[in-house]
Amino acid sequence: MNFYPLVVSNITDETSLAKSFTFQIEDKYQSLFQFQAGQFLSLRLPWEESYLDRCYSLSSSPDQAKMTITVKRVKDGRISNLLNDNVKEGDIIDIASPSGRFVPTENQRPLSLFAAGSGITPIMSIIKHTLANTELTVTLFYANSNDQQIIFKQALTELSDQYPERFSCHHHLSSENGRVNETIINHFIDEQLDQDFFICGPGPFMDLTENALRKLGVADQHIFIERFASDAESTLDTEAQLPSDIASFNAILDGESHIVPYLAGKTLLESMLAHDLKPAYFCQKAKCGMCAVMKTAGEVVMRNSDILSDNEKEKGKILLCQSLPLNNDISVDCDAD
Ligand SMILES: Cc1cc2nc3c(=O)[nH]c(=O)nc-3n(C[C@H](O)[C@H](O)[C@H](O)COP(=O)(O)OP(=O)(O)OC[C@H]3O[C@@H](n4cnc5c(N)ncnc54)[C@H](O)[C@@H]3O)c2cc1C
Repeated sequence: MNFYPLVVSNITDETSLAKSFTFQIEDKYQSLFQFQAGQFLSLRLPWEESYLDRCYSLSSSPDQAKMTITVKRVKDGRISNLLNDNVKEGDIIDIASPSGRFVPTENQRPLSLFAAGSGITPIMSIIKHTLANTELTVTLFYANSNDQQIIFKQALTELSDQYPERFSCHHHLSSENGRVNETIINHFIDEQLDQDFFICGPGPFMDLTENALRKLGVADQHIFIERFASDAESTLDTEAQLPSDIASFNAILDGESHIVPYLAGKTLLESMLAHDLKPAYFCQKAKCGMCAVMKTAGEVVMRNSDILSDNEKEKGKILLCQSLPLNNDISVDCDAD
C-alpha cells in the first residue's frame, strides 16, 4: 500500500470531541483519490520512534470535490487525540488511496441508515451522495449520548429542509431516552423491510441493529456494516498448540487456483504474500476488513475476528491476516463476495 503526502487544507470543530479535516489533492494525485460514498482513508502518522496507521471514513461525498474525514476522540487513544490536539492547517499527512466495501449498491432500494457517535461519518457521505444523485428516499436513525455530541447536527437539519420528501432524520439521545434497544429499532423500521440497511457505530449498537434486522427476516445482501474495530491484541492463547505439520493450503485468486506452501507460525496472508500472491489487504490488524475472504474447506483459527459479524463467520468469512490453519485441507476463495 502506497502513502501520499497530502496537505491539511481545512480543520472544522464539529463537537467538543470531534473535528473534520479536509485534504488538498494535488492534480498528480487526483486519480488516486477518487472515492465512493462510504469509503475510508488510511492515515499514517509518526508515533514515538515509529508510526501508526489508522482508518478514517470520508464524511464528504464524492460530489463535493473535497475529501474530508471526521475524527472523534477515543479516551486515551493515540491518533484520534493527536489529530484533534496537534494537527494544524498546512500540515502534511501520509495517506493511502480510499478503500472499503461500505458503499451503496445498484439495488435502487430506499436506504435505511443506522449510525451512533462517530459512525455517522461514512453514513453522512452516503446520505449526501444518495440525495444528490438518485430519487431514493433515505431515513436515518442517529444515536448519541446527548445533544452536544451530535456530529453534523446542523448539516442534517439542512438536508431535511432541502429534501423534505426524501430525507428524514431521527435523533435518539440516550441521556433522554435511555440506551437503544430492539423495540426502538423495530419501531423505527416500522415493517419497511424492502430497503437497504447500512449500520455504523460502536460494536454493541451494530450487533443490536443487525440482530433486529435478521429477526425481521432481512436478507444478508441488504445489510451493510462498517466496523470501527479496536486495535485489539491477539485473543488467541492456544497458538503454541497449533499443528506443526501443515504443508500447504489452496487459494483461488483472480480466477486461478493456487497451492500455497504454508509458512509455519505465519498467517494465511503472510504465506500468500511470501509466494507472490497478492490478495486485497491493508492494515493486517483485523481493522480494515480488506482481506476478508470465503473459506470453502478446512478449519482455521483467527487471532482477532471482531470485525466480522457472527453471520459472516457462520457463512465461512475469514480474515486472511488473522487466520492460522488448524488442518491440512484448507481452501479459501479470494474472489467470492
Ligand atoms: C474502516 C474504519 C473506519 C473508521 N472511521 C472512523 C471515523 O470516521 N471516525 C473516527 O473517529 N474513527 C474511525 N475509525 C476508528 C479509528 O480508525 C481509530 O481506531 C480510532 O480513532 C482510535 O484510534 P487511536 O489511535 O486514537 O486509539 P488507540 O491508541 O488505538 O487506542 C484505542 C483504545 O485502546 C486503548 N489503548 C491504547 N494503547 C493501548 C495499549 N498499549 N494497551 C492497551 N490498551 C491500549 C486506548 O485506551 C483506547 O481505549 C475507523 C476505523 C475503521 C477500521
